[in-house]
Amino acid sequence: MNDQILDKADSLALLPNVKVILVGTTHPGNIGSVARAMKTMGLSDLVLVDPQTEINDKSYALSAGAKDLLDSVTIKPTLEEAVSDCGLVIGTSARSRTLPWPMLDPRQSGEKLIKEVSDYPVAVVFGRENSGLSNDELQLCQFHVCIPANPEYSSLNLAMAVQTLTYEIRMAALATVDKTKEVEKQEYPSSENLEGFYKHLEETLTEVGFIIKAHPGQIMAKLRRLYNRARPEVAELNILRGILTSTQRGRIEKDTQAKED
Ligand code: SAH
Repeated sequence: MNDQILDKADSLALLPNVKVILVGTTHPGNIGSVARAMKTMGLSDLVLVDPQTEINDKSYALSAGAKDLLDSVTIKPTLEEAVSDCGLVIGTSARSRTLPWPMLDPRQSGEKLIKEVSDYPVAVVFGRENSGLSNDELQLCQFHVCIPANPEYSSLNLAMAVQTLTYEIRMAALATVDKTKEVEKQEYPSSENLEGFYKHLEETLTEVGFIIKAHPGQIMAKLRRLYNRARPEVAELNILRGILTSTQRGRIEKDTQAKED
């Protein structure tokens, strides 16, 4: 019994390591309401990407007792920078996009974030009030989550969406009886390392003529989706990068040989 209480306390202690990232927020009140929603669920790491407003009196008024979260907010210019240290990034979307992506429901999202948060920083990303997240931003996320609201009126207020997701994260933490320590740990690469791989892949595919610079099409987006679905571990990503390096080297050697012949 005691052990179980301790284990739950362990999981709850991890909640501050779950980042909530707001991209391009325009209403100062929403930032305050988000801080309040987070604090009620035990989260505290609020990151603003390219905010379109200052944190002002309205924010503080709506944050109620969550002033401390507003005072310790982190601001980043791009989502890429905000998630560079994260091993798991889940993006929210009120509607389905042109390129289908691995989807989770809010409950699965909470469980996944809590399962992985002891290994590396994890994040859940929310979009602009008027236009959500861009396709490029959504492609930085391994999974997308949609709150299954009324299909005829599915767009929640930003802070309400944060409340819904953070509630599920807290529920998942409460339900965890330290199962994470029993299962074999997989080590996933950070977003920064994944982005490095995608750059390397695009560069190599362009060099070998598979991607034509003037007509890149959707190939990189589709490859990102494929690799995101497979979720390569650190060791697997190293193999993939090794293959790219050998391909590049092989090409250079072949070119040199041809010139000598
Ligand atoms: N008009 C925008 C919706 C913006 S709502 C659009 O069509 O994308 C502001 C933010 O709240 C969204 O970017 C998302 O982060 C969150 N949100 C609102 N409703 C949601 C839902 N049903 N599921 C998941 N996130 C939602």
